[in-house]
Formats: sequence, structure tokens, C-alpha cells
Amino acid sequence: MITDITRRKLLGLLGSSAVIAGTTSFPFSVKAGKSTTAHIVVVGGGFGGATCVNYLHRFDPNLKITLIEPAKTFVTCPFSNKVIAGMQKISSIQFNYTKLAAQPNVTVVHDTVIDIDTDSKKISLSAGKKLPYDSVVLSPGVSFRWGKIKNNDLASTAIFPHAWKAGEQTILLAKQLQTMPDGGTFIISVPGGPFRAPPAPYERASLAAYYLKKNKPKSKILILDSSDSFEEQALFQQAWNKLYPDMIEWVAGTAGGKITRIDTKNKQVFAGSTAHKGDVINIIPPQQAGTIAIKAGLSNKNGWCEVKQPSFESMKARSVYVIGDACIAGDMKKLGHAANSQAKICAASIVSSLHGITMPEPVYNSSVYSVLSPKYAISSASVFRLKAGSISIISGGLSELKASKKTHRREASFAKGWYKSITSEMFLG
Ligand SMILES: Cc1cc2nc3c(=O)[nH]c(=O)nc-3n(C[C@H](O)[C@H](O)[C@H](O)COP(=O)(O)OP(=O)(O)OC[C@H]3O[C@@H](n4cnc5c(N)ncnc54)[C@H](O)[C@@H]3O)c2cc1C
Repeated sequence: MITDITRRKLLGLLGSSAVIAGTTSFPFSVKAGKSTTAHIVVVGGGFGGATCVNYLHRFDPNLKITLIEPAKTFVTCPFSNKVIAGMQKISSIQFNYTKLAAQPNVTVVHDTVIDIDTDSKKISLSAGKKLPYDSVVLSPGVSFRWGKIKNNDLASTAIFPHAWKAGEQTILLAKQLQTMPDGGTFIISVPGGPFRAPPAPYERASLAAYYLKKNKPKSKILILDSSDSFEEQALFQQAWNKLYPDMIEWVAGTAGGKITRIDTKNKQVFAGSTAHKGDVINIIPPQQAGTIAIKAGLSNKNGWCEVKQPSFESMKARSVYVIGDACIAGDMKKLGHAANSQAKICAASIVSSLHGITMPEPVYNSSVYSVLSPKYAISSASVFRLKAGSISIISGGLSELKASKKTHRREASFAKGWYKSITSEMFLG
């Protein structure tokens, strides 16, 4: 069991830019001017991909790097729950690639990868161009397993938004809450299996409660969960009792929380034969690796990509690396901070092997803040090392149940620091 002091030290360490920047973990870089002809293509400019471009360039400024990302504006999922609750504008979580693209030897192409030929080492773009690569890093995030819940298809998200990829869906869900009548019910359906950001559905419920308590205090929030327990459950439930008494009801999977069918016309969801009617309904669909990783044949039967450690090279194709939510990373959860840490280790591994440098033993880290009101946050932080080839947690800790109001207030402010730090690493400030 980790002590409070160790935990505080750990949080301080993880919050410090030195470790987020990875400089303590990877004390090497190849001098500018040393010749290298390798071309590294990075697919996806989110938490894993943008960070990987930054670190590949830092470790070896001579590398030719091409980032392929369809969107000119990236909208972060972290802090998107704050946008849904009206605490921040969407513009505060939007970033562009201008600074990354201004780096020497870095090119950003706004297009979608539609195929990867891992034999001829060529990538096909939707615009028709083919790009040769020496190594390719994929960080395409998740895709949704449409139809796992009956009637849950792309069209249904115009009425029951997922808001699990930030952007238009975030705005839609925020608008629906704004127009919900006072006394209405907001339903959140939480999927089973591994999914992006395990604490985020409960953070969403908390911040929606913050908004509703202020604006529509007779309203209720119903969380229908596929599972029988969730991350940091005691901390969340304690906060709900303190901040939003009687407003949030959580239903475990075996108690009727597992949704099997939806009916957008009548605004109903079904757990077996039990119907729940909602005024605003947020279905978070079951997930798998981003479509391109599956199309390229990199996923297993469950839809996730197995990779070797410490390189993150695919088990299925040489010189192809998969990081972020799409990969199976041992004890690490599918989080932006995990993707950031994996990106640095993957970049270090690629540069090490290109230059015949021995790769330092990696230390992986990840932390996540859940903001439950503007002045109340909780957190979890973990450090990992390789054990028998698998990423294994070696230490970590959670906010304490007996933490004071002041501590929770400080955590809410640390969350802002974390966000600034991690997005600076992606988009260079
Ligand atoms: C509501 C919510 C709150 C969250 N809060 C937190 C938090 O507080 N802390 C935290 O650590 N994590 C949080 N997360 C999780 C975090 O957003 C993800 O874990 C993180 O985005 C994963 O990074 P990634 O690089 O794998 O995917 P992403 O960041 O989603 O990036 C994937 C990129 O790949 C691009 N792409 C996909 N397919 C292609 C293709 N074929 N060609 C080219 N590009 C492609 C996409 O356009 C996208 O830009 C949250 C998630 C949600 C939903």
C-alpha cells in the first residue's frame, strides 16, 4: 500500500514537466547533422501520434517525419466533459498543427490513411497518394462496435450522442442538456470491455450534475453500467453524496444496467426487457482499435492490437508500431497520459534501433484527474515497468477518501496544470 507521502511525491513527479517531457527517462538524443535517411510516418495526430512526432524529432532532428491526420483542428477528449457542463468553451480544447509542422524535417499531411501495405511498406491516402515508409507508428485511437447494442449505429448518434470523440458530438450533448426540461432524466450508458478513459463516464455524470444542480435542480442522472464496479468507485460515490445528493443513480450490470437495445424514436433504452425512458440519452458504444489498425490486419480477435515491448512494434507486422488506445499495453489503461508515455518510449525505441544505441530501460507512467466540480477533483497515478515482457504496475495511488476540501480544490487546479503540460507536448505550446 502506498503511503500518502510517497503518493504526493509520485503525483509531484508525474506532474513535473521533466518526467512528462521524458528527459529523465531517455537521456539521449542524436546530434543534429548525423546523417539518416529513414522516413517515419505517424498515423493520427492525437495524444499518442502528436507526442510521438515531437519526440522522434527531439531524439533525432534529422529524421524525416510525416504526420497524417485528417483534422486540421484537434479537439481533446480530456476536459470535454467540462464543455458539456458549460464550464469551458469548445475553443479552449481545440488545437492546430501549425507549430508541429513548422519543425524542420516534419511534414503534416491532412488526409486519412485508407490502407497500409506492410509488405511493400507503403501507405495509401484517401486522396490517392501512396507514401513509402521505413517505419510507421499508428495511434488511431478507438472505433465503435456498432450494432453490439441493437440499433446503436452511426445514425443513432444524432439523437443519442456518444460524445466519446470530442468535437461536434460534444457540442450536441451540451445542447441537449441545455434544452432538457427541469425534472428531466439524463441517461449515460457505460460499455463493457476495455474502453477509452475508464473514469470519464463518471466524471461526465458528475459535471452534468454540477450543471443541472445549478440550472435544472429537479433533474436526475441515471448511469446504466455494463459492469458491476468501476474505477475509483468509492471516491466518486462519496463525492456524489457530498456534492449532488440524490441526483445520481448508478445501476450495476447485473442489477439491470447492461443496455442491449435502444429506441431513438421513443427515447428509450432497454436492459433485457426493462425499459428506461430518458430526456437526454448518452450511449457510449463498446469499442475496439481505430478502423485503420483493424483494416491493416494488426488487431486480435477482440479488436485490439498486440505489441512487443519496449518498442510497441506490432506482433503482426515488422516496422509497424501501435501506441495509444488501439494497443494492448499490459496494466496501462486507455488514457491520453498513457498514450503520451507510450509515444515517448516508442520514439526512443525507433531512434535507438536506427542508430544502434542500446535502448534505456523504460519507465512508463500515467495519471488521470477526474474533475467533479470546478473546485473538486480526484486523481489516480501509476508508474509501470516491464516484468516478463509485459507492462506491469510497480507503484501508484489514488486520492484519499478522507482528503480535505482543500486537497480536492488543489487537485482541480493540478488538473489544469496536467492539461496544459500534456497538450504543450503535443502541439508545442
Ligand atoms: C470524455 C473523455 C474524457 C477523457 N479524459 C481524459 C483525461 O482526463 N486524462 C487522460 O489521460 N485521458 C482522458 N481521456 C482519454 C484520451 O482522450 C484517450 O486515451 C487518448 O485520446 C488516446 O490517444 P490516441 O492517440 O490513442 O487517440 P486520439 O487522441 O483519439 O488520436 C487519434 C487520432 O488519429 C486520427 N486517425 C484515426 N484514424 C486515422 C486514419 N485512418 N488516418 C489518419 N488519422 C487517423 C484521428 O483523427 C485522431 O486525431 C478521455 C476520453 C474521453 C472520451
